[in-house]
Amino acid sequence: MLNQICSLLTATLTCAITASLASAQPKNVIFMIGDGMGPDQVEAARMFNGGPLSFESLPYQGLVTTNAANAAITDSAAAATALATGQKVNNSVISLALPGDGSELTTLLEHYQALGRDTGLVTTTYMTHATPAGFGAHEPSRYNSTQIAGDYLNQTRPNVLFGGGAHGMSVASAQLAGYNVVTDAAGLLALNTNTQTFVSGQFGTTHLPYEVNGLGALPHLSQMTTTALDILDNDPDGFFLMVEGGKIDHAGHSNLLAHNIGETIEFSNTVQAVLDWAGGRNDTLVIVTADHETGGLNVLADNGPGNLPTVSWSSTGHTAANVPVYALGANAYRVTATMDNTDFFDLVTAAGLPGDLNLDGFVGIEDLNFILGNWNLNVAMGDLLLGDPSGDGYVGIEDLNVVLGNWNTGTPPPPGSVVPEPAATIFFLIASLVLLKRRTRSRPT
Ligand SMILES: [Zn+2]
Repeated sequence: MLNQICSLLTATLTCAITASLASAQPKNVIFMIGDGMGPDQVEAARMFNGGPLSFESLPYQGLVTTNAANAAITDSAAAATALATGQKVNNSVISLALPGDGSELTTLLEHYQALGRDTGLVTTTYMTHATPAGFGAHEPSRYNSTQIAGDYLNQTRPNVLFGGGAHGMSVASAQLAGYNVVTDAAGLLALNTNTQTFVSGQFGTTHLPYEVNGLGALPHLSQMTTTALDILDNDPDGFFLMVEGGKIDHAGHSNLLAHNIGETIEFSNTVQAVLDWAGGRNDTLVIVTADHETGGLNVLADNGPGNLPTVSWSSTGHTAANVPVYALGANAYRVTATMDNTDFFDLVTAAGLPGDLNLDGFVGIEDLNFILGNWNLNVAMGDLLLGDPSGDGYVGIEDLNVVLGNWNTGTPPPPGSVVPEPAATIFFLIASLVLLKRRTRSRPT
């Protein structure tokens, strides 16, 4: 496709830019799923919390439709497959083209792995449960636990696998596959995260306990996630991490409101830990969403902080209710008010518009700064955040032209994003013109 576009273009410079931008994607992707977390689960937790949850302040938000290929109401396998691969499949199917030819569908985890980046899966369910499996396995049934574990350990090989143990996973099989294994919070927190390459956290022999019941020696989702980030951020190329708050769903099935709220608040704490890591970065995409709603929860009255709200439940299963999405960072602007769960694969992996080096949807001063900050340097070819949109491995006039030639295009980021001082803007614009002039003189054509 790209070659066809290039052959149609007469200007080789434009072609080089197209080629370079085609490979530009968020460096780090943190994909967070509250299993069974519909809008009313968020509202109930917010009321109990006495204020907004961490992810409710993220600048880009919308609602997501969740149906499976063969049913209006999805299960976690079909939903995880849709989120991970962009394809609708039948309920119970784990990232295979069913309906279809049964071939393996490339997941976001595999997509980033193919780009040479580290990957991880973190969950409060047992490790081979449907949601993490959708990102790291390919099986006709979510109940093929042994095969899902085999897919993890021998095929997709995420660098980090943190969740409940057993159900196909064992300490021996993980060690045989070259994984370091930890089995409790103490072991997790004692890891030297600078030297770990493949780590399997097998915490207990099933799902982790509910937050409201206490976790004993086992780690919280926020602890697992913080450790996963500490390990994965050793990769200079970036990483893909999926984090699931898996037991919001279980509490929904049982219509247990306090349990549901406890899981949602720990999920919010986990998002906060991620935001603490990602805050201020311009190369990272954080997505927070759900796979479906569970329980038909309807919040009726706020009874104040620390008190359970008054609610009704209409189901002990999943519902077809739309679920919320919240996003921050590179490509987050591609989140729209109404989305489908198959839209995320393209949203995450999309290249930016020309000149939009930090993938925030707008060409402006922040993009210019990447070029001025690396002016006249040789950098990794096509690295946008090092200021090389022209893709020639050198930061110079060609790169400046890409940004200035597309100046002010796109949609400005919403309020709350980092905006430079007007004085700095003027300074950099003057500086850019001076540099542009000098560069033109020193390179006569
Ligand atoms: Zn469920």
